[in-house]
Amino acid sequence: MAKRDYYETLGLAKGADAAAIKKAYRQKAKELHPDRNTDNPRAEEQFKEANEAYEVLKDADKKAAYDRYGHAAFEGGMGGGGGGPRGPQGQGDFASAFSDVFDDLFGDFMGGQRAGGGRTRAARGADLRFNLRVKLEDAYSGLQKTITVPTAVTCGNCHGTGADDGSEAVTCPTCSGMGKVRAQQGFFTVERTCPTCNGAGQTVKNPCHVCHGAGRVEKEKSLSVNIPAGVETGTRIRLAGEGEAGMRGGPAGDLYIFIEVEDHKIFERESTNLFCRVPVSIASAALGGEIEVPTIDGGRSRVKIPEGSQSGRQMRLRSKGMPALRGGATGDMFIELAVETPVNLTSRQKEILREFDTLSKDNNPQGSSFFKSVKGFWDSMKG
Ligand SMILES: [Zn+2]
Ligand SMILES: [Zn+2]
Repeated sequence: MAKRDYYETLGLAKGADAAAIKKAYRQKAKELHPDRNTDNPRAEEQFKEANEAYEVLKDADKKAAYDRYGHAAFEGGMGGGGGGPRGPQGQGDFASAFSDVFDDLFGDFMGGQRAGGGRTRAARGADLRFNLRVKLEDAYSGLQKTITVPTAVTCGNCHGTGADDGSEAVTCPTCSGMGKVRAQQGFFTVERTCPTCNGAGQTVKNPCHVCHGAGRVEKEKSLSVNIPAGVETGTRIRLAGEGEAGMRGGPAGDLYIFIEVEDHKIFERESTNLFCRVPVSIASAALGGEIEVPTIDGGRSRVKIPEGSQSGRQMRLRSKGMPALRGGATGDMFIELAVETPVNLTSRQKEILREFDTLSKDNNPQGSSFFKSVKGFWDSMKG
């Protein structure tokens, strides 16, 4: 079978320069790496070809000979004086031959795993999220709440060491504590997480029978949480160190409580202010008076209704709103009057209203500018 052209093997045009050759080879090496080609049986062979091509083309002398004579340059002493360029090395030596790009490739393949000196003893536990719904009244006053969180906690039997009573953690015999092993894969040397210790660098003679050596167990944890006054939907409360336990003595993660404040049946909240609609009788609205309104603190406030109040009139109760979470002034409560039309009238009540209506024709009591303008509009329509 005719040997493929070296440039073609690397996907290059004939006579490509050194930089292009190196780049093309790196690309090929990544594409054909055994880890990425477990289902491509040709990959190793293709890589050997690419490697052979690179061996020749990266060397200025060999490249010059190949450019001139092709594959014949390396077949039996045709290469000219001085011993001539030597052919590619045997495949067993390839790994050392491409060491200059190997480090580059390695960095890519191993991702971030090499950071930290190759040891992954301790690992921080995961952060946890807990959603907590609270009533508006509780958001007003703040509350102490006990919550139950499923989490991983330090194993009580081995106190996180992963070893059963008396059994000391020992340096992993497979990786000598490095957490990684080097293995020959084809002609590649690859670094892998140690299968014995899973990267920890340590093993135990007698793994803890409770946590099977992990050093932590799944458990429901009860926590008493202080929810401060003034929380809103979206407020996050961080409980440092209350997340999942770390692995092998690493620090625990944090627990984040996400607050959702439930809708209230009468109060609407806007930041620290509260709004509510208060029904008033037609008589109270017309004559003026006093009403009692509920407040978020569970109490009641008396509010004066001015004579002649229209539906929709707003009144402010200072500092009867919500507390501010991070200092600042307490909000206000706004009430909006909703004048009620009386229903289910007795005949006597109807009689009085009719009389009232007759009197109203002589003395128009609807004194608001709105009613005046509406009345004026209708009068003009009637022409
Ligand atoms: Zn190991
Ligand atoms: Zn244990």
